[in-house]
Amino acid sequence: MIRGNFESQLDRMVKSQLKKRGIEDTKLLNAFRSNPRHIFVPENQKGDAYSDRPLPIGEGQTISQPYIVALMTSMLSVDSKDRVLEIGTGSGYQTAILASLAGEVYTVERKRSLSKRAKNVLSELGRDNINYRVGDGTRGWAEYAPYEKIIGTGSVPEIPESLVKQLAENGRLVIPVGGERQQRLTLLIKEEGEVEIQKKSYCSFLPLIGEEGWKET
Ligand code: SAH
Repeated sequence: MIRGNFESQLDRMVKSQLKKRGIEDTKLLNAFRSNPRHIFVPENQKGDAYSDRPLPIGEGQTISQPYIVALMTSMLSVDSKDRVLEIGTGSGYQTAILASLAGEVYTVERKRSLSKRAKNVLSELGRDNINYRVGDGTRGWAEYAPYEKIIGTGSVPEIPESLVKQLAENGRLVIPVGGERQQRLTLLIKEEGEVEIQKKSYCSFLPLIGEEGWKET
């Protein structure tokens, strides 16, 4: 498909999938405009790159629906000075949106092949404020803690204690919490050592498999 065609598809995606559903933050919408989704999907999915749903990226994993990426990012309220920890690099799409808005991004992925591919794509895009790690992200990334913002892009049965510990004072954590099929986007805010938890929209994410997530079956 020619480049011009992707550009108009991206423009339409921003208008009909994001703006129409109430995503208004100009910085966030611009982040979507500067990270074309077709770059993050495998060759055989490029024709559907701007569709309103998750898409397969190999290894049984998916790239999230654009609206969900926008919703979770807006729940985080990312500031340009923030250091953000992301669990579940996947295709690197959410990572790219975060890197456009934050100071520094730390992203952990369990599957080496996905981490490597995301790193290649993001380096080609010229993103130099991203740090990659292969491992179990349900235990966070203690070395660079605390983080102002933490996002989990896979589901957990309960909020991992390690992530709460690695969250900075006044920090925000967004992660889908619930059952294996259905969860609720959950926002945790840390204030004066206390945590406040807000349960938001229902959603359906793939599992985070690890010590403080789901057990491997
Ligand atoms: N944000 C990604 C979505 C990735 S899906 C995107 O839009 O492309 C969830 C990802 O979490 C998968 O890539 C999966 O391999 C990864 N994952 C599962 N368990 C994990 C764990 N314990 N630590 C880090 N990543 C994990």
